[in-house]
Amino acid sequence: MRAMYYEAFEKTPEIRVVPDPTPSENGVVVKVEASGLCRSDWHGWMGHDPDIRLPHVPGHELAGVIAATGRGVMRYKVGDRVTVPFVSGCGRCGECRSGNQQVCEAQFQPGFTHWGSFAEYVAIDYADQNLVHLPDEMDFATAASLGCRFATSFRAIVDQARVRGGEWVAVHGCGGVGLSAIMIAAALGAHPIAIDISEEKLAFARKLGAVAAINARDTDDVAAAVRDITKGGAHASIDALGSPVTCFNSIQNLRRRGRHVQVGLMLGDHATPQIPMAQVIGHELEIYGTHGMQAWRYDAMLSMTAAGELDPKRLIGREISLDEAVPSLVAMDRATDIGISVITRF
Ligand SMILES: [Zn+2]
Ligand SMILES: [Zn+2]
Repeated sequence: MRAMYYEAFEKTPEIRVVPDPTPSENGVVVKVEASGLCRSDWHGWMGHDPDIRLPHVPGHELAGVIAATGRGVMRYKVGDRVTVPFVSGCGRCGECRSGNQQVCEAQFQPGFTHWGSFAEYVAIDYADQNLVHLPDEMDFATAASLGCRFATSFRAIVDQARVRGGEWVAVHGCGGVGLSAIMIAAALGAHPIAIDISEEKLAFARKLGAVAAINARDTDDVAAAVRDITKGGAHASIDALGSPVTCFNSIQNLRRRGRHVQVGLMLGDHATPQIPMAQVIGHELEIYGTHGMQAWRYDAMLSMTAAGELDPKRLIGREISLDEAVPSLVAMDRATDIGISVITRF
């Protein structure tokens, strides 16, 4: 099969032919129909993820059709249209048994712990526990975003930040995660505020439901601007980018007893950012991480999609080929694309 492949971090990946994968006893092989390009792939390629063993094939936001199944797989068959959370739980550890597969102690992550979906085929372990059937009406490019960014934002907004109708939600960074968070918060009846340095992204965020937009490039004090708009601070705030500045602002712009969720990855030099801890204590702020979403929670997300309350298709930007994904991946930290770029030609 054709795959994007690299032997060293920070060295431009190549497209080469590698052996087709075979399913493990409890796994499947998926013929990849769409795979989203995510900033986490860039982090992996930079060498920020200790799970990655070289040589490597990246890619973790995927949707496709099952091409082969292991002998132990009961719930899925060849031909099924599926996606999978980028963290797949083992189904046996304490976290999995408590329903928290997203923090499994023995997790399988395509494109990180194992070869991923920037390829014609990808092997997925723990299939029965983690695969998600796609609704018939959902196309593969849209479904790919459910494997990482859209699902991660859903968990961040709904389960971690516990956003309710009428609340103010600040969203720092309007890439795929941020735009998803804005759409989801708006669907819940909350008032999202978009924050970014690109006027284009802010304009798109408004179309997706943001009631206010702040251009951080020409705003001296972003947190003060949020407090101004919200008359005292946001009830919930998301750092969707992952940088020391956006993390700090996202906590500082909260009202008393507000909830911050860190969604954007903080790796490499950014792993230990400054936190306004006096404010966290004095105002009883809550700080959460979020790490994908369990397969069993997809039901709630897909029912909102079926009802027309969420429309993840609107977040899809460019559809590109596997070859075109190479320059896009290496330039991901400077991404100016609006919405999510998805590989749909392999
Ligand atoms: Zn991702
Ligand atoms: Zn587990």
